[in-house]
Amino acid sequence: MSPNPALLLKTNLKQLRLPTIAAEFEKLAREAGAANEGYEQYLLRLTELEVAARTANALQARIRSANFPVHKDFDTYDFTAVPNLPKQKVLELARGEWLDQHFNACLIGQPGTGKTHLAIALGLAACRQGRHVKFFTAAGLVNRLEESQKAYQLDRFLTQLDKTELLICDELGYLSFSRGGAELLFQVFADRYERASLLITSNLAFGDWAQIFQGERMTAALLDRLTHRCHIFEMNGESYRFRESMKAKKVKKQE
Ligand code: ADP
Ligand code: MG
Repeated sequence: MSPNPALLLKTNLKQLRLPTIAAEFEKLAREAGAANEGYEQYLLRLTELEVAARTANALQARIRSANFPVHKDFDTYDFTAVPNLPKQKVLELARGEWLDQHFNACLIGQPGTGKTHLAIALGLAACRQGRHVKFFTAAGLVNRLEESQKAYQLDRFLTQLDKTELLICDELGYLSFSRGGAELLFQVFADRYERASLLITSNLAFGDWAQIFQGERMTAALLDRLTHRCHIFEMNGESYRFRESMKAKKVKKQE
């Protein structure tokens, strides 16, 4: 008895790691037969499916590795709620040229004005362009740096950070750091200077950053590098969260 070619083919496709082709070739072969499609057309359709599945999987892997705290995108961001935010400029950043130019971006504003939302949306846009992104809160990043240092793994962690084209550091300013923690964060920021992009969100105006970095000198050195080639967005205004909850209360009252 001759071996079943479909079975052999499945084994080969598994070995070649072509799972989508393995799952689809029989169905597509029936369709191709019915439509009198040529061999090349059939193979082309099969490989297109495999390529599409791989691209989608790679994107999902990049998004997972970025470690966003929640999924937020531009389609749910209401630009009219922040009238002084230049929408076109923000959407231009979503195209990613600033990352090729190793520019930084800072979103500065009061809590609830959508800084984290936009930081994630920009991070997702970068992932979709095939870039490696990492999202941290400032406190989380300092924590990881200190832990890595304690475990003699700092170099390894820094190399990992070095591979990211966009490092997002959210909520700088909510907590101040120890001297050691501030120095480690300074090192990460300084290392990226003109080499890779940083996106920072903060509730503190630059003038108040000395509180976080303990000392005018370190702060001045840091701000000098950070803001040299930087898109700065001031997002002041009423808290979106607060406004939405007030609206909801009003609706309830009217009911
Ligand atoms: P921040 O980081 O500035 O404190 P967040 O991004 O966490 O603010 O926003 C708080 C909540 O309000 C989030 O759920 C966010 O999605 C939502 N939000 C804030 N601003 C907007 C906006 N302009 N359009 C839509 N949702 C917004
Ligand atoms: Mg936030």
